[in-house]
Formats: sequence, C-alpha cells, structure tokens
Amino acid sequence: MSRLATTGEVLQLIRSGEAVTRADIGRVTGLSRPAVAHRVADLLQRGLILEDADGPSTGGRPPMRLRFAASGGVVPVASLGARRTQIALCDLAGEVLQRTDLDIDVEEGPDVVLPLLMDTWEKLLDGRDDVVGIGLGVPATVEFAAGRVESARVMASWTGVVIPPIIAERFRVPVLVDNDVNVIAMGEHRVVYAAELDDLLFVKVSTRIGAGVISGGGILRGALGAAGEMGHIPVRDGGGVLCRCGNLDCVDSVASGTAILRDLRAKGRDVTSLADVTALVRAGDAETMAVVRQAGRWLGEVISGAVNLLNPAVVVLGGDVAEMFQPLVSGVREVVYRRSTQLATRSLRIERSRLGPGAGITGCALMVLDHVLSARAVDAAAR
Ligand SMILES: [Zn+2]
Repeated sequence: MSRLATTGEVLQLIRSGEAVTRADIGRVTGLSRPAVAHRVADLLQRGLILEDADGPSTGGRPPMRLRFAASGGVVPVASLGARRTQIALCDLAGEVLQRTDLDIDVEEGPDVVLPLLMDTWEKLLDGRDDVVGIGLGVPATVEFAAGRVESARVMASWTGVVIPPIIAERFRVPVLVDNDVNVIAMGEHRVVYAAELDDLLFVKVSTRIGAGVISGGGILRGALGAAGEMGHIPVRDGGGVLCRCGNLDCVDSVASGTAILRDLRAKGRDVTSLADVTALVRAGDAETMAVVRQAGRWLGEVISGAVNLLNPAVVVLGGDVAEMFQPLVSGVREVVYRRSTQLATRSLRIERSRLGPGAGITGCALMVLDHVLSARAVDAAAR
C-alpha cells in the first residue's frame, strides 16, 4: 500500500484472514509497529476484533492471534417470496443465529408486510440492541441505491415504494434492499465459490425465471439495478405464448415452473404443483422428462446469450425447478455448448445450487456486512 493503511483497511485484512497477527499486518501494510498497535487497539476497543493467546506455542511467548468479532453485533434479514418469507438474525460473519419462516402473501402490500417483518425481528431480537444494519431481498426489480421497488407486474402494490426509510424509522440503522435473485447469487458465490472463481451466473427457475450476475467478484446491477432480468428475453420457436409482460415467447412464459405445469396439464397430466412434477421426474416418467428437457433447451438459448456476453466460470441453476436438475440441465447443456462461443464454454461449468433455499438470507446478511464493515464505513464511524 503506497499510503498508510487505515483502521478500516486493517479490519478488512483481519476479516478476510489475510492477517492473523500484528506482524502480518505490519508485513502486508508496511505500517510501523506503533501504527499497527494504534489501529489494533482502536478495533479492539470498538469490539470489532478479538485477540487470543491460543496460537501455536514454539517455546517462549505464544503469538497473539487476532480474529474478527463475528458476535459483536446482529443483522436482521428477510428474503421475501411471493407466498413465503424467510426471516432471520445473522451474526457479523453472515451466519444464521435464529430463523423463522412466515406465510405472507406479498400482494398484501407494504403496509401489512413491513410492520409484520419488523415485529418478527423485534421478537427474535428479544431486547438485543446491537443491530448494525438490516437487509431485504424482494421478488421485484429494485433501484438499488434508493431501495425503491420498480416492478409493476409482480408485487404491484409495492411499485414505487422506497423501503429503507420505512424500516430505518424504527431501527435507525442502514437498510439495504435488493432483488431476491441478486442476494441469492451473492450468497451462493460467497459461500460456495468465492475461493475459486469471480464470475458466476445464477439462474433461478421457480414459478418465474430470474438471474443474478456476479462479475469480477461483485454483483452486476447495471445503471439502475435492472441487470439480470433474464425472464423476459424471448426464445426462438416458443410457439407464440403470450407473456404476462405483453410480449411473445419470453423464456419466462415457456420455461418457468408455471409454464412446465401448464404444458403438462395441456397433455392431460394431473399435476398441481412443482413437487408433483419433481416426483414424476424422479420416477423417470418419459413425457414429463421430455417437457422439462424442452424447457431446459429454451432456457439454454437465453443462457447461451448471457454466456457469450459475460463469460462466467460457472452457471448455477437454483429455484424449485432445479430439483428436476437432470432433464433440465441436459436441455440447457445441449443448447449452451452448441450456441456459445468456444472460448466462453471451454471450461464452463453448469451446476445445481448447493446453498439451496438458505442462500437468500445469507446473501442479505453479506450485502449489509459489505456495506457497514467496509473500510470506508469503519473509518467514517470513528470520526
Ligand atoms: Zn415477458
């Protein structure tokens, strides 16, 4: 580092595990011993790090080890689904401390849902007053900087609502809101892949289709936060299906869970939920496998375009439909490896989500922690 590392930057080194002793900090930053001592004392005093004498003893005095104080605060989070919402408290490492799920219909609107969320967090907090920030994932397009819900068709009653000030009025901490698939992509990347790769495309196929893009290690949001809205890219030869957005043959209208159910019913199959479809796939039902595989091909068309544009190292398929992974991924692979460029697919992996349904709350916590524990935020708080 060419200028003197700040206290916030020293915290980043300890959080990431790059530095575990004072000597490490000195070596990485070039700071003098008194300067290191000053910054470490500041972080200790603020409860952001702990110092233990449990390093390996090599005779003489054991080295003091520094570690990030994950228990030094709490982050209430919620991942809103259309019908079901996951609510949790996480520690400062993003680990879930407590979790509860609520059946709420988001269409009840912010006046009903937000107070219910805040009451639930308060119940879980049980008097704790060390909340450092709050994170929310919502099934809608979000103008990230403002925390404004933009989508007009999903969560219609939320359109134009700016969520952070409503929550900050009660909790008085930074409140961050993002699209649900973005937070899931962040969670999946950080927990499963961060050590090995920086570029990931997460495609969520449930009732609807959406995507989150991790590029160069960070979420790609676009100018206003609408990046990754993959569901409304049209496919070829979709058969002329009218999408709820008004266009024809959007991938959402031909390859989503909703579309798979509709196509199976049109063939006279008695299926009422995606769980029914998953059971048929597991039983090896040929007709169901063919419908899911065709959905995979259409999905593959859109994914191949995204692969050409973004060159991810891995495409992760998540959401309820990922339960039908085999026929779905066969269809996706068939098209992606044919249509994408050779360089983009040379080492491309297509995998199933490993974090599963918990990725949303983990991602929400990480979104908040990256914000409140950033070097800049930590240094600003000291002033
Ligand atoms: Zn559409």
